[in-house]
Amino acid sequence: MTTADTVIERTPALRTKLPAVGTTIFTVMSALALEKKAVNLGQGFPDFECDPQLVNAVTDAMTRGLNQYPPMTGVPVLREAIAAKLLQLHGRSYDANLEITVTAGATQAIITAILAVVHPGDEVIVLEPCYDSYVPNIELAGGVAVRVPLIPGSFRPDFDKISAAISSKTRAILINSPHNPSATVWTREDMLRLQDILAPTDVLLISDEVYEHMVFDAAQGRAHESAARFPGLAARAFIVSSFGKTYHVTGWKVGYVAAPASLTAEFRKVHQFNVFTVNTPVQYGLASYMANPRPYLDLPAFYQRKRDLFRAGLARTRLKLLPSEGSYFQCVDISGVSDLNEADFCKWLTTEIGVAAIPLSAFYGNGFDQRVVRFCFAKKDETLNLALERLEKL
Ligand code: PMP
Ligand code: GLN
Repeated sequence: MTTADTVIERTPALRTKLPAVGTTIFTVMSALALEKKAVNLGQGFPDFECDPQLVNAVTDAMTRGLNQYPPMTGVPVLREAIAAKLLQLHGRSYDANLEITVTAGATQAIITAILAVVHPGDEVIVLEPCYDSYVPNIELAGGVAVRVPLIPGSFRPDFDKISAAISSKTRAILINSPHNPSATVWTREDMLRLQDILAPTDVLLISDEVYEHMVFDAAQGRAHESAARFPGLAARAFIVSSFGKTYHVTGWKVGYVAAPASLTAEFRKVHQFNVFTVNTPVQYGLASYMANPRPYLDLPAFYQRKRDLFRAGLARTRLKLLPSEGSYFQCVDISGVSDLNEADFCKWLTTEIGVAAIPLSAFYGNGFDQRVVRFCFAKKDETLNLALERLEKL
């Protein structure tokens, strides 16, 4: 028998569940930006503070002793505020008790929805390029990701390809508008087309709407067309959003899911065992802050100004601008500047020029390289100007 002196420490080898997965590109590029003291326009997060009133509202909740487990589904005042907002903005009534669940950010909302509905062997359609958590989430559920490309160049949905990808095994489709990374926004016609395609099927919709309040050029008729606006979609949808994006608090990790009661019931079965509850004082703080709609109603103009400032500066560089209709991202074509592939270009740009970006190839399963990289413009004007000064040297 071994004793404390003779015991051999041996950690058993694992068979990985996610062989294709390493550390996320966002983490890798932020670490490189920090190391090289580069301006970090890579990972998507603001470098400015949130509204002090929001901090006060959370602090107030803590001071009032609201520090223990909240209800599993989220605090009632926050769920009611979310339901009221969805009704006001999109005209759909969600029952705050049965159809809204507060989550630990959109990330947990999406994996929880997938774990709740995807059985081993089920297919889930994702539109590439797509946010990096989707495919691993599907695979963890035992599902099979069916990748349908957005139209190369324009990143618009290709509905013929989407229709063709639907099979008897399709359990769900994941969409994301405004879109990370391409900054495109689905139109009303796009949503109607999707509604028609899904109508004869039992395919569920997971609609990632985290950038819902960052849609630009409203004067030209652009708007956020939430799945909540389309009854045929809403009846089969998990609609996901994140307070992190809307209120400049990505580190707080609070979001929500709105879904019909039968879908929410299944969602909550998983939610109660993968996170159980979400930060209590932050929920109360958000609920009281939401009473004023101005912060989210003013967000498109706030970010549109930054987008325009950034685009005007980029127009003076040799990078080629792609459209930015929504989200806080701006993609550029690098082919006039460099022969490097996207990933090497981003490393070079960070190290040699002092500006970090994200390669679009990171959003494709096969690493497809179209010579396009993504910048995040959720930054102070001075940060954007410093980055632009450096990029002009290219
Ligand atoms: N979906 C998309 C498209 C995103 O860009 C993000 C933000 N990284 C998320 C989901 C995750 O949001 P959260 O930080 O609230 O988990
Ligand atoms: N959503 C952000 C992005 O796309 C960052 C998310 C993350 O770091 N996982 O850059």
